[in-house]
Amino acid sequence: MSGTDATTADSDARASAFRQAPVGMALVSTRGEWIDVNDALCRLLGRGREELLATTFQQLTHPDDLHADLEQVQAMLAGSITQYTMAKRYLHPDGTVVPARLSVSLAREPDGKPRHFIACIASAAADPEQESLHERSERLAKANVELERFAYVVSHDLQAPLRTIRNFGGLLARHADALPADGRSHLDRMTGAATRMSELIADLLDYARTAGSELEFEEVDLNAEAQAVLTSLAPDIEACEATVTVAELPTIVANRRMLRQVLLNLVQNALKYRRPGTNPGVEVLHRRKDGEHVLSVSDDGIGIEPRYARRIFGVFQRLHTRTEYAGTGIGLAIVDRVADRHGGRAWVVSEPGKGATFHLAIPVRDSSEVRSG
Ligand code: ADP
Repeated sequence: MSGTDATTADSDARASAFRQAPVGMALVSTRGEWIDVNDALCRLLGRGREELLATTFQQLTHPDDLHADLEQVQAMLAGSITQYTMAKRYLHPDGTVVPARLSVSLAREPDGKPRHFIACIASAAADPEQESLHERSERLAKANVELERFAYVVSHDLQAPLRTIRNFGGLLARHADALPADGRSHLDRMTGAATRMSELIADLLDYARTAGSELEFEEVDLNAEAQAVLTSLAPDIEACEATVTVAELPTIVANRRMLRQVLLNLVQNALKYRRPGTNPGVEVLHRRKDGEHVLSVSDDGIGIEPRYARRIFGVFQRLHTRTEYAGTGIGLAIVDRVADRHGGRAWVVSEPGKGATFHLAIPVRDSSEVRSG
């Protein structure tokens, strides 16, 4: 191919790129006449090529958008800007309005004189796909709230028959001596399962309670909450001879019940997931960083493999069997939900055998944000 052929092929390719571009493209004179337009633009504006070339962009611009567009045109001709992008509306011959996104640059002659504008005009009509995504996510959010409510009611109502099973199990156990050996074992298993189910329901109720609409925010003295948690965990702390230290904690604006629950779940886990044969050391700390309160509970326990660091925050996600460590797999899901509801996040930093540090970061709020739900 000779040099000239190559140049011709190049310019053909450029011309066809212009003609076949999937967005509207146009060359426009400095006075506003369309010099050249592509098919996509004809389709967008609802006019044939010849028809379009006989008009100016001013004639097809929605009157309310003309001033803003002309201002940019003037600024570009004066050389104070080199390109602009704006949302504007064009007039369709069927009387409707065509919302578009316009981007314009200016081609100049070698001596710097303006030659013509190069305009790229893309439709800005709401994408029906997008709309349905939005609708779908709203529907999902609604369904979620329904589901939470359902979970709450069901778990609440399950408590009563379960209590009956446990009570009668207790009564039967009084006559255990009269039962054959396998009958006693069946009874034990039945009451064991009932107890476990009641724990599960209690935890599910706690989880369901973290849903709901508006959150109550109040001034929460974290020291007082931490002390209350330690008092309720005193039997566990004594049983494993743990050392729990709580740093000086601030008073923050948050939901009191939720923050206490987070502290309870994290300290309880720190005691539970201790290395066998050791007396756990647990620390509760706080620091303020980048507009956030970061509350941390760290332990010297069994630790977690980093690849499970996110998974354990899911509902019913556990890394151990019940015989190794008792639990329902809901504690951290609650921590995660509390973080979420406060506009924050929860995460863990850990290595197997080297303890774990759980963090809850929530935005600092001032007392003007205190509100009752
Ligand atoms: P549960 O303790 O009832 O199993 P959680 O949601 O509180 O449920 O915890 C989920 C899982 O995360 C636990 O089963 C355990 O494997 C792991 N985990 C939680 N806290 C710790 C910790 N402090 N050290 C090691 N592993 C932990």
